[in-house]
Amino acid sequence: MSASRATVGVDLGGTHVRVAVVDGDGTIRHEHRGPSPSHTIDELVGSVSAATTELLAAARADGLEVRAIGAGVAALVDDDGVARYAPNVPALVNAPLRDDIAAATGLDTIIDNDANVAAWGELAHGAMRGMRHALLLTLGTGIGGGIVLDGRVYRGAHGFAAEVGHWQFDPHERMCACGEPGHWEAWGSGTALGVLAREVAVRGDAPSVVAAAGGDPAAVTGEHVSAAALDGAADALAILDTFADFVATGFAGLANILDPEAIVISGGLVNVGDVLVSRIRERFPLHLEGRAFRPEIPIVAAQLGDQAGVIGAAVLARQVDPGA
Ligand SMILES: [Zn+2]
Repeated sequence: MSASRATVGVDLGGTHVRVAVVDGDGTIRHEHRGPSPSHTIDELVGSVSAATTELLAAARADGLEVRAIGAGVAALVDDDGVARYAPNVPALVNAPLRDDIAAATGLDTIIDNDANVAAWGELAHGAMRGMRHALLLTLGTGIGGGIVLDGRVYRGAHGFAAEVGHWQFDPHERMCACGEPGHWEAWGSGTALGVLAREVAVRGDAPSVVAAAGGDPAAVTGEHVSAAALDGAADALAILDTFADFVATGFAGLANILDPEAIVISGGLVNVGDVLVSRIRERFPLHLEGRAFRPEIPIVAAQLGDQAGVIGAAVLARQVDPGA
């Protein structure tokens, strides 16, 4: 009996390392989760390699044959597999991650940005299955994204495409975490919801949100807005109305350029639930060019949840192991 093929997927973030053996159906067969020893690239690669060695033994015992490993990292990744820029993982600045993982594991290796990798996962085994053109937008502390064009995740000329959080939304206001004013992320991310809510709270226009924050306007966060909104508080719902319009305007800008079949959303803000997502859905078409003459572009939830990283990385690995 010949062994069935599987690949290894790695999700390498600022705080965690997840490594999994994933079969051709996108099912996680063996998995390791641990904290990220993010001080040096050697420690990072060492923890990936140790976990991989254990998982490969388990996979072999399970009759699985593994030849390739893929990794998604919170970094800009160039076409030579070098992590060039990683705002939250200092060890991954100009780090030759692909070659180091290949040397440490002996497997054929491919790496990409974590949002691109999540898009590969959703495309193969999640909400974008069967689509040729689609957008994955991750709304969390920041905004990440993956652009699917013609059935593939688009990397641009240098591998740095789809930094969707960093297009200029309003160059005159709000500093983005990257140091440039007015990027969409400074208006439409979870962090931005907190900034907006504090502005409204300090003006005295958000009494129930301030109450949820224990009475201190400066302590208001996005969570307090969601909590008060779920209780039906009008001041919190008004903040979500404004915020949803910032998010929806960004969606429409991208949709006007890319004409996707669907926009798939993931990330912490999606957990706020229908009270926010329904507002984004309502406002999104209002900002589309020629909206009366276009088919509907559905906004749907991602399906792989926090497994998108490892599953997507394992899907990416199939590119260097076409037998998988
Ligand atoms: Zn930015």
